Amino acid sequence: MNVDFNNPDLLSSNDVIRQLEPTAIPRVSAIAKMALCERAAYNISFFGMESNDYSASGEIGNSVHRVTIKSVLEIIHLSKIGRPIQKESGIGIFEENAKADIDTNWKRFLLAKVDKPFDPLMDDLYTRADRIVDKLIAEEEENKYSVFRPEFTIRNIQLPLEGRLDLIRIKIPNLSQSSYISSENLQNLGNIEVQVTQIKTGRYKRPSAVWNLQADAETLLLMKALNLQSPPEYVWQFSDKDSRRKKFNFAKVHQYIDRYIQLWRSEASPAITGYCPNCSLKEGCLEWAFAPSSKLTENEIIRRRSEFKLSKRIREEISYEDRWKVYVEIRNAEQRQAEGSSITNLTLDVSTVDPGNQSVTLIGDQSFGQFLDFSVGDHVTVSDGNPNVGSNPTATIVKIDLIEKSVRLRFHRGDMYYLLHEGRHKSIRFTLDRFNFIAGLISMRYLDNFFRRSPHADVILQHRNSILLQKANDVNEDNKNIESTKLLADGLTKQKVGVPKPESDLPEEYDV
Ligand code: SF4
Repeated sequence: MNVDFNNPDLLSSNDVIRQLEPTAIPRVSAIAKMALCERAAYNISFFGMESNDYSASGEIGNSVHRVTIKSVLEIIHLSKIGRPIQKESGIGIFEENAKADIDTNWKRFLLAKVDKPFDPLMDDLYTRADRIVDKLIAEEEENKYSVFRPEFTIRNIQLPLEGRLDLIRIKIPNLSQSSYISSENLQNLGNIEVQVTQIKTGRYKRPSAVWNLQADAETLLLMKALNLQSPPEYVWQFSDKDSRRKKFNFAKVHQYIDRYIQLWRSEASPAITGYCPNCSLKEGCLEWAFAPSSKLTENEIIRRRSEFKLSKRIREEISYEDRWKVYVEIRNAEQRQAEGSSITNLTLDVSTVDPGNQSVTLIGDQSFGQFLDFSVGDHVTVSDGNPNVGSNPTATIVKIDLIEKSVRLRFHRGDMYYLLHEGRHKSIRFTLDRFNFIAGLISMRYLDNFFRRSPHADVILQHRNSILLQKANDVNEDNKNIESTKLLADGLTKQKVGVPKPESDLPEEYDV
């Protein structure tokens, strides 16, 4: 098909995306790991080697994080609508949200082998709630003139960098309580006072180099997103006290982004700058992903080569996802809808909100139905129009009704509350975009883990290698036959035989 790039009205989203250069938008979490060790960033982002999926402490930590943010927003909301904050009821909200979180995420706790999550969760949350509720009471008046944004995603294509901040507070002295301020309008508020809160599980610990770099990268992202002239207040909230990042080093963030992209493109090998004895990646990293070939058996070398190839494929896939994020920058929601990659102008049917099942129905306008590639089971990001900035939960489509022009969504991990906070649905029309790179990465990670850990992987690799060997032998035989026939026909007595090119015993991309 001929595509006319001079006429944007005739282009589909896929036409445009195919024209974009492959791109890499590093995540703050990966950049931050580089403060510990370059290989840690390399492994986590490229190989998906995080070994603590569904660990007990990880799941409790995630739950503390969710319950705290949700409870703080709920307490402030009640105060804004005229129910003054009281200590006992405030702590009760933390307790209720902890129970609801356990109900919603029971599967995750089960997989992490936490039989009774309530007690370990409340070990942290009672101390935290006691302190936070006091603070909210002290700041009750100023919080009435502040907007709060939970799980605030910021993706900056120019830096390039993306991250998600736990909670931001923006003080706006002349705030009108009647309407929600969209993510786009937040960028034009002028001189505003902003505070970032990052939740840390457990009691106070001295911030590590990783946390410091993470704070600097997140602060840089936020300053760019909200056009701030000076850095916001950056708070690490532990259960027993708050701690602040006072000086930021943005030059270092830029330096790490550049280095990360070099590693990503295989232009450099990752250096060891870290602390191996305490590193959770030790097994894969030292024992075989980067071990000298002389220490590996032939099978391990074959396996490592397959892993590096897989890693390369993962990067190519991520780079494709990243093109969607760039695409969002160059087309507004209406244009994306016209080209078939977004559904916009969606309103919430309040009667359909089902907190138990974490689901809602959104109703479309007359253009609903012209999308090309949305179907039941897809992961989508719900935003004010720009999924690159804002509190944008992800959900799965569970029903599409073309007659009623509606789409029903189910949210992940209890994220529905931040679609509705501060009455957002009353003043904002929602947009769905069909990219959820986190889910993409997770499925890649499982695939990768399969290769790394599953006993079946060895069987498959052996089978594949035996086929390759067979093919190489067949080619040799064919070459021999062709050559002999040719030589015989030429009446020559000396035969030349094709020899397969010896494969290097090193991974394809690096000398290790
Ligand atoms: S095991 Fe050592 S070299 Fe490997 S990622 Fe961890 S700290 Fe870095």
